[in-house]
Amino acid sequence: MKQNTNFIRKKIGDKAIISSVVKANAFGHGIETFVPMAEKAGIHHFSVASSFEAREVSQVCSADSTIMIMGILYDEDLEWVIKHKIEFFVFDIPRLKKAREIAEKLGIKARIHLEVETGGNRTGLERSSLKDALTLLKNNRKHLQFEGFCTHYAGIESLSNQFRIVQQQQTFNELAKVVEKAGLTPKLYHTACSAAALAFPDTVMDLVRIGTAQYGMWPSPDIYNLHLQQTGKSKDAPLKRVLTWKTNIMHTKEVEKGDYVGYGTNYQSKTKMRIAVLPLGYSNGYPRALSNKGVVLIRGKKAPVVGLINMNVFMVDISHIPEANVGDEVVLIGRMMKQVIGIRSFTEVTNAINNELVSRLPAAIPRYAVK
Ligand SMILES: *Cc1c(COP(=O)(O)O)cnc(C)c1O
Repeated sequence: MKQNTNFIRKKIGDKAIISSVVKANAFGHGIETFVPMAEKAGIHHFSVASSFEAREVSQVCSADSTIMIMGILYDEDLEWVIKHKIEFFVFDIPRLKKAREIAEKLGIKARIHLEVETGGNRTGLERSSLKDALTLLKNNRKHLQFEGFCTHYAGIESLSNQFRIVQQQQTFNELAKVVEKAGLTPKLYHTACSAAALAFPDTVMDLVRIGTAQYGMWPSPDIYNLHLQQTGKSKDAPLKRVLTWKTNIMHTKEVEKGDYVGYGTNYQSKTKMRIAVLPLGYSNGYPRALSNKGVVLIRGKKAPVVGLINMNVFMVDISHIPEANVGDEVVLIGRMMKQVIGIRSFTEVTNAINNELVSRLPAAIPRYAVK
């Protein structure tokens, strides 16, 4: 994680703040585990998708860390958010008015990041509302602190989408001029996510919002290839997967030739074999699509999935690993001796993207920070 942070830092230069995006339970890594780790790596800014997640971060982060909500924030949470000096995106006038009202009531400034629409058509304040928002900010300086002016790119990790990104950048610059003309100066301008920060230096402003890269995942093959082009290397591995996922063998069993394994007739043994039963399934985030396709590592060897992935159980073939036994460590994602199972080996089968696989790992799985 430290190495990933250093790599990102090298790419963006000394100036910009790195905001660690820890939405979706820190991309499945666990907010409780990941946030203190990130702080040890020098990060003191965290971005989340909701006030619910902001609460989770606030329970584990240090007092000098900043939390920024990029998404859903219900009116009933605004008071807590403002009181705790949590920053938040504003993309419509009603939220700005409500924030002003509550900030005034509390006598504490609301810390606003105006997120503007630049062409992504997700969240983002419409150009037609910008003047009103700026007027509100200007007339309520006592209650509204203009922390940031920002936007989000709609698919900057894909080179074929660059025409849209260029338009978004132009629009953002135009809108920034409107802010300037209104005599307002936000503390921070920010637009960059991982892909932007890694490959497009002109998107790096005062702060970058880094999710996927911090966890050691390249945003896309395009961005990895751009990195190779920019550095003149033929291959490079500056980003390291932070997450390892392990279980252990719950039970072993001898299976006669011709027997079926698990539910239905999905897998029939071709020979006498030995299988290991593992205590997890699709409810624990192991995709059902890996039925008869996945691979795990036991005693440093690959053991293929046999039969269907059940809700809480699945089986693997250990006929070729006679030393395997109940209690043995099983690697689902990660390295064991010379073998590695990457996140990509899952997503190639399931069509999921890396972020989807990791962010869906249930919060109930115990997580440990290890060195
Ligand atoms: C998720 C998100 C990010 C982080 O994106 P990555 O590609 O994972 O770095 C940044 N900004 C916003 C608004 C987001 O929703």
